[in-house]
Formats: sequence, C-alpha cells, structure tokens
Amino acid sequence: MRFAITSKGDSKSNTLMHKMKSYLLDFNLIYDDEQPDIVISVGGDGTLLYAFHRYSSRLDKTAFVGVHTGHLGFYADWVPEEIEKLVIAIAKTPFQVVEYPLLEVIVRYQNGGRETRYLALNESTVKAVNGTFVMDVEIRGQHFERFRGDGLCLSTPSGSTAYNKALGGAILHPSLPAIQLAEMASINNKVFRTVGSPLVLPAHHACLLKPVNEPDFKITIDHLSLLHKDVKSIQFRVADEKIRFARFRPFPFWKRVHDSFVAD
Ligand code: NAD
Repeated sequence: MRFAITSKGDSKSNTLMHKMKSYLLDFNLIYDDEQPDIVISVGGDGTLLYAFHRYSSRLDKTAFVGVHTGHLGFYADWVPEEIEKLVIAIAKTPFQVVEYPLLEVIVRYQNGGRETRYLALNESTVKAVNGTFVMDVEIRGQHFERFRGDGLCLSTPSGSTAYNKALGGAILHPSLPAIQLAEMASINNKVFRTVGSPLVLPAHHACLLKPVNEPDFKITIDHLSLLHKDVKSIQFRVADEKIRFARFRPFPFWKRVHDSFVAD
C-alpha cells in the first residue's frame, strides 16, 4: 500500500508526521505523495481540507484519515497518543471506507461560454466585491427568490458543522446526499423578501445563482478564496464524486458533534 502524509507545518505536526512515516516504512508500506492509496493528514480540519484539494483528482483511489494536533476536528479525529495504534491499523488491516458527499460548483462566465468547476468538502460561499450582493436564486430550474444581503453559503453535510452552522444552518448527517443553502444577513423589509430559512436540497436539485447587476464576486471553496469577474451564473449541486475516509474504529458523527459543541 502507498501512503502520503500532509502536515499543518508546525513543529508538533511535523514531528508526528516524521514519526508516522518512519513507522509505516518499517511496516514496508511505500511512501508515494503523487499516487497514494491513503493520505494521513496531521494538524487539524484545515490540514485535511488542504489534503482533499491536493488529491481531489484521485478521490476514487485515495482514502483520507486525520490526526489532530490541536483541538478535536471533524475530519481530524485521531489524537497524537494514538498514532502507534493507527499505524498498526493502517499497516495490518484492510480498512473500512466511509463515503461523504461533496459539493460541485460550476462558475460560468459572460463571454465565450467558459466555465470553471470546483469540488468543495465543506462549503462554497459567494459574496459581492462591491456593494450589496444581489442574486436571483433558481432551484431546479425555477425562480425561487431575489436575494439581497451579504452573501450565500452552500455547504455539504460534513461542512454543515462549519461556516454553515455559524449562519444558523442545520447540522446534516453526512450519509445524506444533500447540500444546504444558508443566507448571510439577508435584507428583509417591505420591499425586499427572502425565505429567511436554510434550505436543504436533494441530489437531483441544482441551485443556480444569477447576478442581477454587478457581475464580480468573491467565491470561496473551503479555505480557498478567489475573485471571479463577469460571472453569468454559479451552479451548485451534490457532486458525483465523494470523499472516502478510512475508518479504523467507530466514531459516530453525532458523538463528534456532541464532543465538539456540547461537552468533552
Ligand atoms: P481555520 O483554521 O480558521 O478553520 C476554522 C475552524 O473551522 C477551525 O476551528 C476548524 O476546526 C473548523 N472546521 C473546519 N471544517 C469544519 C467542519 N467540517 N466542521 C466543524 N468545524 C470545522 O480556517 P481553515 O482551516 O482555512 O478552514 C476553512 C473553513 O473555515 C471553511 O471551510 C469554513 O467552514 C470555516 N469558516 C468558518 C467561519 C465561521 O464559522 N464564521 C468563517 C469562515 C470560515
């Protein structure tokens, strides 16, 4: 089996990375950071987001596992004290894989039919560059509302505990093939109206945003933030691809939610 390890880059994560690498080499696993079967991320959720984007072209062949060197992460749920156990599990057992849904984002531009496609593990947010963000929101080909406000956030089920949660969105179990649309400070008064509630869309319902006036936007894909000019539309739907997590022990999603947000 071929493995790769990504580190957050701080000294604690780097030391752990080198230790795990040497243990796994001792078990005759092959280090291959181009075509790994398993990627071990050492750091936090941000490190796993980075690893996901680094290997997003081979999601069907690569599984991910996260070790956290700070606080408990949603994607990084192994602690440094457990790495010997984790290394033995990786080296000895055919591991179980759990798949989580991803968000597909397609940005289309006004000129020339050009488009860019992204995959997000947590979410994509769209904000205006200048002035109020105004977008027509279409769901499954039907006009839904004209949104005015700070922006919109489209999240995956596993990303629902991240930015989406801070926006008042619901927490979705990652076994649900769905995406969630959450508002960022919508303008609601006698003139302008939005639904005001987060919406959960199933896999066959795409959400399309169409600029009303200003065509330049700041679009984030997880931790990446990009300026897009002359945008014609932005389409969001559940991606065909999934992320595969290597599971070596049960750690139920609701327990992770409890341990992260309610109590240790
Ligand atoms: P970061 O390191 O500042 O991470 C922010 C926090 O989000 C960290 O505590 C991390 O553990 C947590 N986080 C990441 N994914 C999570 C998940 N799926 N469930 C629960 N918590 C999660 O920044 P980064 O590493 O660049 O991470 C980018 C992420 O930060 C974005 O994907 C977004 O979800 C999140 N974010 C949150 C807010 C907010 O809550 N207001 C604002 C901006 C970005």
